[in-house]
Amino acid sequence: MAHDEANIMVILSSPSGVGKTTLTKKIQQKYQSFKISVSHTTRSPRSNEVDGVDYHFVSREKFKNLIKQNCFYEYAKIFENYYGTLKKHVDEISFKNDIIFDIDWQGTKQLSKFKNLNLIKIYLITGNKQELKKRLINRNQNTSREIENRFNSFDEDIKHWNDYDYIIINDNLDVCFRQIENIIL
Ligand code: ADP
Ligand code: 5GP
Repeated sequence: MAHDEANIMVILSSPSGVGKTTLTKKIQQKYQSFKISVSHTTRSPRSNEVDGVDYHFVSREKFKNLIKQNCFYEYAKIFENYYGTLKKHVDEISFKNDIIFDIDWQGTKQLSKFKNLNLIKIYLITGNKQELKKRLINRNQNTSREIENRFNSFDEDIKHWNDYDYIIINDNLDVCFRQIENIIL
């Protein structure tokens, strides 16, 4: 992976609904040096999502072609869809900027194999599972089946906390944000 070694790469992972997207956006808004790695995905856009900003939304066929052409640093199948980080995007950004990745534990394992990267791996959780369910419902962007699938993946997801440098509880958003700031600054 080509990059400027002075720049850091922050990975935020968590069970779905804990707050990665919210916190990633807050980091980018406050710190101009950080750019978000915009992933490719085969899932459909949510009503509040914009192609090219939140994700690059692509067909399965296109995604599979990108896999065949070895275009991804990492990719994973999550909740029946594919998600991946394109090499070209990361290489372009990381020469000039710090990067934030909102990716799952499978992608984190794959990126960790690149030993020359300045990775900071942060795993977020909620204080309790019921709070997570509330957030998934309040986000109002998933069907009840999707919410159930995401909620049910919690136990499997948190088995991988040990692969991370830091574990942070996102109960109070401002407190959590300050904790992340302390780490990345
Ligand atoms: P993820 O990207 O991890 O799936 P989101 O960032 O979409 O999660 O957050 C899920 C929902 O929880 C959103 O509606 C968001 O506004 C809300 N949320 C995030 N952090 C907190 C928090 N600390 N307290 C209450 N609600 C939160
Ligand atoms: P969502 O559908 O809620 O946006 O994301 C579902 C899961 O996919 C989240 O855990 C998110 O971190 C993960 N994800 C998003 N983009 C990528 C990616 O490029 N690679 C991997 N491995 N996971 C991703």
